[in-house]
Amino acid sequence: MQIIKSIEELRPIIRGWRREGLRVGLVPTMGYLHDGHKSLIVKAVSENDRVVVSDFVNPTQFGVGEDLASYPRDIERDAAICEEAGADLIFHPEPEEMYFADNCTFVDMDKLTKGLCGKTRPTHFRGVCTVVSKLFHIVTPDKAYFGQKDAQQLAVIRRMVRDLNFDIEIVGCPIVREADGLAMSSRNTYLSKEERIAALILHKSLMLGKGMAEQGERDAAKIKAAITCNIETEPLARVDYVEIVNPDTLEELEKIEGEALMATAVYIGKTRLIDNVI
Ligand code: AMP
Repeated sequence: MQIIKSIEELRPIIRGWRREGLRVGLVPTMGYLHDGHKSLIVKAVSENDRVVVSDFVNPTQFGVGEDLASYPRDIERDAAICEEAGADLIFHPEPEEMYFADNCTFVDMDKLTKGLCGKTRPTHFRGVCTVVSKLFHIVTPDKAYFGQKDAQQLAVIRRMVRDLNFDIEIVGCPIVREADGLAMSSRNTYLSKEERIAALILHKSLMLGKGMAEQGERDAAKIKAAITCNIETEPLARVDYVEIVNPDTLEELEKIEGEALMATAVYIGKTRLIDNVI
């Protein structure tokens, strides 16, 4: 497995694969990989001839005062995980490789990026759409793999690919959880022992909401209120949002009829965690 840091070095490798008629899969990540990321890589390996994992803490998707500087990084550990999962190449550029100092072109989106995480992170999805578009142009994959953990991101990327005619299939992958239910996340490393226990409230509360829907409750407001109240029983938790939306359009639902995405963002101490259930 190779670790490539420059676009100039990467392009001929990809062209070579293309000439051989090989199918290329891409797994975009910000590194500090865990079993959630690994599940995406394993799936990509099973469906493609070559798999590229991008490992890049993308500065444009962090807002002012967010955790760009402290975001955990460990390329050697990541390389071992990628190798074990069967990836062929890690693309690990420096920020200067990805963004010209006078870069002034961004990919932005209306509607889907305004609610949920977009409310507290108004510039986040512009950064995500921009970096993912760049990675799509650089790697030119046949398929790209994204986790349901970031449900809004998955919906945004699907919409971007549709609207901008990227010839790439987007594959959504299920959330991988710790044995006690906490959704795996690189940001879980910020949690103290006490906070780690408190963080279980996200999944527990979402499961409560899911249970209500499964037992026939159709009123989204009632379910939202129950989830919110349950999260608030945890003294270390502060709710950012609880929303019930259409999983594709991300429009708020009043009545639960078909599929519904129940999503939450919660601060546990200073760490903002997200989770969701369908
Ligand atoms: P990140 O490195 O956090 O930007 O995540 C890179 C990709 O891995 C995204 O598509 C995430 O949705 C996905 N991912 C992160 N955590 C999980 C998880 N616990 N289960 C499944 N996919 C995940």
